[in-house]
Amino acid sequence: MKQGILYIVATPIGNLADISQRAIDILSDVDLIAAEDTRHSRHLMQHYNIKTHMWAYHDHNEGVQTPILIEKLLAGENIALISDAGTPLLSDPGYRLVKAAHEASVRVSPVPGACAAIAALSASGLPTDQFHFCGFTPSKSSARLRFFEQFSRETASTVYYESSHRIEASLLDMAKVFGGDRVAVLARELSKTFETIRQASLLELSDWLAVDANQRKGEFVVIIQGQEAQQSEAAVSLEHTLRVLLEELPVKQASKLAANITGEKKNTVYKMALDIKSK
Ligand code: SAM
Repeated sequence: MKQGILYIVATPIGNLADISQRAIDILSDVDLIAAEDTRHSRHLMQHYNIKTHMWAYHDHNEGVQTPILIEKLLAGENIALISDAGTPLLSDPGYRLVKAAHEASVRVSPVPGACAAIAALSASGLPTDQFHFCGFTPSKSSARLRFFEQFSRETASTVYYESSHRIEASLLDMAKVFGGDRVAVLARELSKTFETIRQASLLELSDWLAVDANQRKGEFVVIIQGQEAQQSEAAVSLEHTLRVLLEELPVKQASKLAANITGEKKNTVYKMALDIKSK
């Protein structure tokens, strides 16, 4: 008998229109939808008039449900896995099912669509050539500080999911570990009415949230610029400033001014000025 296919279907992260026609067709045609929360997903199904039977598949029942779903797939049923929002398995249930499907040689096919991390990255204005997806941050501050410590010297942009009740404390902890002047982006309520994307230093972002309670509401992605990217950008602007000043001023005066403008140490700037002059 022909085996079924396990489809991993991305659903919207806010705006219900952010779903592909292919996703709607597959959700309508499969034999079963395994949904993280069937009550939550009912709204989407009603909106698109999808009548397929839904089964709950979440962190608390995946041990029991995985073998049952694999049996159905082996018996020829097509199944779609969805989560409450975005792409399943990205800080959402599904890993066990996908792994088991591969082990049982069942075909797994992704139906791509919304993902908060990717949406945030694409609009962040931070380097996206390399990034590290770090998922949710731990809920306790001590564990969070240790968690951030692992990424403090990461050269790629790091991406975090955060909830409204932890965002303020989390930003302060990020500032402690990465330094308050590290550039970051706060992407809030993407694709929804109060969508906000703001790039600033970690300290500026946390000050901003502290004075505006509305900005603490909703769902968040935080992206922190990688260490090297920030350093190299700072280095470029220091060198540029210094070169411009050196065209008009003697080394000592140009170095002093460049250090004042960029906040860089006087010694470092002076050495750089001598280096530029000697070439
Ligand atoms: N699987 C989802 C995805 O593909 O993005 C993520 C699910 S995870 C349980 C939920 C978290 O994703 C939220 O706490 C928030 O950090 C982030 N998130 C989801 N929707 C978002 C949105 N519209 N704007 C900003 N962040 C969002």
